[in-house]
Amino acid sequence: MTQSQKPVVDLHTHSTASDGWLTPAQLVAEARRRGLRTLALTDHDTVAGIAPATQAAESTGIELIPGIELSSSSGPHEVHILGYFIDPSEPALLTRLEHLVAQRNERNRAIVERLNDLGMPIEYQRVEEIATGGTIGRPHIARAMIEQGYVGSIGQAFNEYLTRGKPAYVPRRKVLPEDAIALVKAAGGVAVLAHPMTAGELAPLLERLVTAGLAGMEVFYGEYDRSTRNHLQVIADRWNLIPTGGSDFHGEGFKEGRSLGSVEVPLASLERLRQAHRNGTRGSDSRG
Ligand code: AMP
Ligand code: ZN
Ligand code: FE
Ligand code: FE
Repeated sequence: MTQSQKPVVDLHTHSTASDGWLTPAQLVAEARRRGLRTLALTDHDTVAGIAPATQAAESTGIELIPGIELSSSSGPHEVHILGYFIDPSEPALLTRLEHLVAQRNERNRAIVERLNDLGMPIEYQRVEEIATGGTIGRPHIARAMIEQGYVGSIGQAFNEYLTRGKPAYVPRRKVLPEDAIALVKAAGGVAVLAHPMTAGELAPLLERLVTAGLAGMEVFYGEYDRSTRNHLQVIADRWNLIPTGGSDFHGEGFKEGRSLGSVEVPLASLERLRQAHRNGTRGSDSRG
């Protein structure tokens, strides 16, 4: 019999720096309340939450891993690349992120225009207010729709309007996952494929991404059941990828299966991530 333990690691979380509902400091406080020892902040296309989260973590004894989740795509599929142990002050990273956020905002405005055309007027300014200065994404637009009474929940907003194939969907500007991986590595980080089940056919994708320097992929993901995790574990082993995981927490009640600290991530995976970070750093140092 294996002993079931309370999770102490969560490697996939969002704050108000992107589309999460808790500020970085609130997120750290909540992680502490739930008994976590290691927390990675992985906001979408931004590192703005890392400094306040790191500061908040210092007084709590929680280890805060600086991370990010970059949005890219492969054909019609969203491919999200997580970066761990990135240097949030790396100039090349900051310049690229500024550009990605500008493209995001262009897309967000186009989505709001679609909603207006569909008879659901929303002020873009209101979406910005809801985002409180963070990277804006579709969940903020969904919340503005709820406020106006157009939908009853974030899930409904996505399922009926915002998801691919629905009337207010606007594709994002193409970013290649290879470029996202390169950016993570340029910032000294370790690249991991997020929620692989929605990334399209895995064999050809992993062939490309492993060549580009992918080091791990999420196996222990809150929304995945045991058989899906077993399936992904086999694939991770086959490609020698570090099996990582986390809740993808955005806020309580955001989406089923995404409760903070609800996923058991093996400590061995965390150790392998650290090792990959050390090796990568040493590698680039020795090349000068
Ligand atoms: P964006 O970055 O603007 O493309 O929005 C993507 C975000 O929306 C991600 O954080 C997802 O977690 C969230 N999301 C995607 N699909 C759904 C859904 N069906 N229900 C709730 N949230 C979703
Ligand atoms: Zn999100
Ligand atoms: Fe994601
Ligand atoms: Fe996420």
